Amino acid sequence: MTDYRTLRVALLGAGAVGSQVAGLLLRHGDELADRAGARLELAGIAVRDVDAPRDVDLPRELFTTDAESLIVGSDIVIELMGGLEPARTSILHALSSGADVVTANKALLATHGAEIYDAADQVGASVYYEAAAAGAIPIIRPLRDSLAGDRVRRIMGIVNGTTNYILDRMDTEGADFAEVLADAQRLGYAEADPTADVEGYDAAQKAAILASLAFHTSVPLDTVHREGITSVDAALIESARHAGYVVKLLAVCERIEDASGAGPAEAISVRVYPALVPRTHPLASVHGANNAVFVEAEAAGSLMFYGAGAGGVQTASAVLGDVVSAARHHIAGGVGVGESTRANLPILPIGRVTTRYQITLEVSDETGVLATVAGILSEGRVSIATVEQTVVADPDGGPGIARIVIGTHKALEQDLSDTVARLAASGVVERVVSVLRVEGD
Ligand code: NAP
Repeated sequence: MTDYRTLRVALLGAGAVGSQVAGLLLRHGDELADRAGARLELAGIAVRDVDAPRDVDLPRELFTTDAESLIVGSDIVIELMGGLEPARTSILHALSSGADVVTANKALLATHGAEIYDAADQVGASVYYEAAAAGAIPIIRPLRDSLAGDRVRRIMGIVNGTTNYILDRMDTEGADFAEVLADAQRLGYAEADPTADVEGYDAAQKAAILASLAFHTSVPLDTVHREGITSVDAALIESARHAGYVVKLLAVCERIEDASGAGPAEAISVRVYPALVPRTHPLASVHGANNAVFVEAEAAGSLMFYGAGAGGVQTASAVLGDVVSAARHHIAGGVGVGESTRANLPILPIGRVTTRYQITLEVSDETGVLATVAGILSEGRVSIATVEQTVVADPDGGPGIARIVIGTHKALEQDLSDTVARLAASGVVERVVSVLRVEGD
């Protein structure tokens, strides 16, 4: 057996992910040593309650409630506690003690990433976070290393499994949001408090992490435009299906070039919202709680990364990949992986984004209404690509209600929202049923 140097590994947290990481570290010691070029000794596991039941059977003597003492003298610290504090303080402590850090904590990186990467830079340490965006799917390393010589134009990600599970079941079963959410909670796909998932907060954190990496730009969380899926109902899903689309909660990170001179020549947009995706697009075939990240790069073209976006053991796989990289770096020394913000591109507000839309309106079924609607759209610089009208008869024999579904050409979000406000106030529109962006066509 090769006589490897031993590296001391501290694990903070032994919940769904941490307990699996500990189990794999203990079970696959020899194999990991060959891959890492060092023996990885699990020095201890910090938790809140050393007697709490664990998903994996682990030696009782490894557990401690004293995370800070465990960090001192460690070569690699794996943070899997989650939340902002004490995770932030522990990571800063680990870096200042000379350890490399592995974390899956998207909330922390999206909020305090700049501070943590700076601290790592100052001491030449590295922070690895493959599991922080899209769980088991390798996407951080491809963006950081494999595509380092390319230019990413756009990332479209289904990065939240809970919302994809809900939207997928609504699409396949015609069920309503509340019904599927309750079911998802019963089956453990959604938390008792589903806000972070259904309101898009979790996806926004991942979008900020992916965009920072892809565009070498610091992306504060409050610059990510965020809308959730709570207003998506069965009727909207059905009308999307009818038009050849599926509704997906997308994290879109986009490089925007503007040769007009009106705005910055190059900028980015980072946004999360439910969008219509053509049924022929690869992202449309992402079912259940799976995740996928679709990357468009200048030279490589389109790439899609697909798989489990969560789950204890699945996420542990990504964490261990990082531990092996951290071990190699620790042994070889040299500069850390580093986070580049060299481009620092301006981040455009949602109003400056251009995309296609589908607008669904209810209007009274009278002569001239369609012409009025078309006139308002044209005045607002929103050009119509398709129109479909269905008349819902009035049982009392009066003028019925017509439902108009308008597909637009690319329009500026600000123009579109001003125009929709004008339509709503026009007197001919009874109700603006929905306005959805179309992505991926
Ligand atoms: P979890 O099941 O809630 O486990 C958290 C662990 O951290 C527990 O063992 C807990 O100790 C420990 N802990 C919490 N606060 C602590 C404190 N102040 N001091 C010491 N220990 C503390 O969390 P998880 O699902 O494993 O997630 C861990 C991280 O991975 C999070 O950042 C999460 O966002 C990320 N992640 C999770 C998944 C997933 O599928 N679960 C996927 C991707 C990324 P006790 O057990 O004693 O309470």
